[in-house]
Amino acid sequence: MDYQPLLHKIRKEIEIYAHDGKQADYIPALANVNPDQFGLCLDLLDGRTYRLGDSDVKFSIQSIAKVFSLAIALSILGKDLWKRIGKEPSGSAFNSLVQLEYEHGKPRNPFINAGALVTADVLLSHLENPKEFFIEFVRTIAGNPDIHYSEATMQSELSCCYLNASIAYLLKHHGNLHNDVDDVLRLYSTMCSVEMSCEDLAHAFMAFAKSNEPFSHAGVNLTVSRVKRINAIMQTCGFYDEAGEFAFLVGLPGKSGVGGGIVALYPSRYSIAVWSPRLNSKGNSIMGMKALEMFTSETEESIF
Ligand code: GLN
Repeated sequence: MDYQPLLHKIRKEIEIYAHDGKQADYIPALANVNPDQFGLCLDLLDGRTYRLGDSDVKFSIQSIAKVFSLAIALSILGKDLWKRIGKEPSGSAFNSLVQLEYEHGKPRNPFINAGALVTADVLLSHLENPKEFFIEFVRTIAGNPDIHYSEATMQSELSCCYLNASIAYLLKHHGNLHNDVDDVLRLYSTMCSVEMSCEDLAHAFMAFAKSNEPFSHAGVNLTVSRVKRINAIMQTCGFYDEAGEFAFLVGLPGKSGVGGGIVALYPSRYSIAVWSPRLNSKGNSIMGMKALEMFTSETEESIF
């Protein structure tokens, strides 16, 4: 099947949502992004790639970084990681503090901020140079050496990360952060500041769609079993308190970020990345969700 006409049709039909929502502004650097951009990239298992709009424009991946840091932390600690982080949906906002207090400092899952602060802590404890290791991992999995952190976005987030700092101190209080709070916050925000295009992301997430060809880089092995677990967590926790809605509308494991990116995959078939900065109240891209919903409905290619 030639997917290009379908992608054009989707782009046309979602135009009615083009002015709904707004870009994240609680991180000042993200507020400066032109909100009227839209990109999409579809990578198929047979090697074909389809692109639409601003598919090669790099944007801030934000929480999508949590999938990469989970892959690394899981390779480092194996099953022991689950002693420090749960694997249940949180049903609350990505930066919620309340649940963490009730649950004595054990984050519900690795994709809420609390969980990702713990994975950042694991990277800090076990890697000599976590920042360089992380970016090299991302470059390799995406097959693009031209991927970088944005110092400006990282600094911008650090200048106002009061909620993340509160979460980190609560984790520290419960003995679930082993490193200095400022160092963990810095590494976490640095990983969120990585800039990638839809093409980079679709390519990178093929590693989670292609379980027959396990990806491996510097001791990080995406074995069949590990990919299965990470995909399960993407399915149940990838969209915070909208994970159920995403499963219902789109029906794929995936991950969103407040930069407006969403990447999703169908195991053994395809990976698809979409980007549009205007977000709904849950922090997920409005046009991105609509585009993916149309894609899986029209192709009848969702996992359900
Ligand atoms: N860096 C962002 C934060 O911590 C990531 C949040 C997101 O993309 N949902 O708030």
